[in-house]
Amino acid sequence: MAHSAQLELFREPPSRSRELLVSTSPRDTRRATAINLGLQIAAKERGADVVHWSDPDVQISKYERIGFNVYYPLNVLNIEPFLRRYGLGHPGGPQLQAGGHGVSNLAGLMDAYPIQVYRGEIEGHWVDRKGYHRAKEVLSEPVRDGSKGVVELTRGCRYSCNFCEYGCTLGGSYREKPLELAKEQLLHLRQQGIKRVNLFSVNLAGYRHIEELIDFCQFWGITILNADTCIKGIEKLGKLLPRMSRLHLGLESFDEQTRISNKKGITDEQLWGSLEYILQHTGGLYFYLIYGLPGDNYDRWWEAIHRLSELRRATSGVAMRFDYSISTFEPSLGTPLEGAPLVDFEERTRFKLRWAEECLKAGFFNKRYPDLNKVPGVWGKEETTYRLLMALKRGGQRVGEVVRAVFKNGVTRSPSMAQKLKFLRELEENNEQ
Ligand code: SF4
Repeated sequence: MAHSAQLELFREPPSRSRELLVSTSPRDTRRATAINLGLQIAAKERGADVVHWSDPDVQISKYERIGFNVYYPLNVLNIEPFLRRYGLGHPGGPQLQAGGHGVSNLAGLMDAYPIQVYRGEIEGHWVDRKGYHRAKEVLSEPVRDGSKGVVELTRGCRYSCNFCEYGCTLGGSYREKPLELAKEQLLHLRQQGIKRVNLFSVNLAGYRHIEELIDFCQFWGITILNADTCIKGIEKLGKLLPRMSRLHLGLESFDEQTRISNKKGITDEQLWGSLEYILQHTGGLYFYLIYGLPGDNYDRWWEAIHRLSELRRATSGVAMRFDYSISTFEPSLGTPLEGAPLVDFEERTRFKLRWAEECLKAGFFNKRYPDLNKVPGVWGKEETTYRLLMALKRGGQRVGEVVRAVFKNGVTRSPSMAQKLKFLRELEENNEQ
């Protein structure tokens, strides 16, 4: 393979130490369809064994270094039970590290643990000015996920939207896998009989060589499974669109002013022009939206629902489906909006009511939903989970103490309501002392 030599050049020599990687995800997400690419890359890079934090009978004495992979911030709750079960964290024991997106942006919370936090990419060979390890290029090997393959295509994002943790800190500067290497990897997977591949990228249309790669995949009979992209540059996905039953678009807000002021940079003209183009090629739209961005104008959202309805009528013959997820704004460290106020859940309830009403008027819903929990669509976290998450992200010694008291057995599924309420109550009392 033409890039093998380059691959070796950029890598550190393989470690001779015996290393263990511990996945901290809750047990019920282990079979989730999304692959934890970071864990896979880390395991390959370090030649490490992988266990789940709840696995019994791990032969800890074999290992000189133990790494905790934290995919999502709530998963840090599962580190301490593992440390306790195996008596780790004492002088002379294995070296302990924690890494992954979920741990990278927690303020001070990890100080409470005898663990070195590794921020950034496992194969990184320099540290950027925010303290994250970065690799120069995207040279990761393809990963097999059952009958599917995953080829990482890009890291970082071309854009740095003000609200986006990935675009502002976690992803680092924008880098792309060299085209020839991507092709070699796709061919390698194809030779192993894998014909369905996810090209891992936060913005598929943004990959410089995407058109050539789409042609390449079509030639070799490889199906591209991606559905997510940013609306910018959508025309570059032209040949792929007819094969997609539903395109997932990261739009975040229907208010042009909110998008522009937060560097999302999609004007209304671009948005509606692109939507018309998309609907000529594919029949379904799925929007990623965020409720609670500072200063958002929801009147523009209601107008957009009706405009989408008109667009649906105008594209007769195309069975346009309109779905969405509306997550809740999380002001994140390292972004220009890190100090923005948290979402007010009473206002969010009013928003949800109005959304349901406008969707009914526009013909997207065919009945009322008196139970707001049943309003169609994927809605963000409920209030206690949101407050728990934001407390973990903002971290600090007190939060660490309360976490250790309330979640001492970890979280095998999601945190229970009783646990969340106890955590929030104790945190409040703690803060008052
Ligand atoms: S929201 Fe999307 S386009 Fe904006 S920085 Fe994040 S990943 Fe990039």
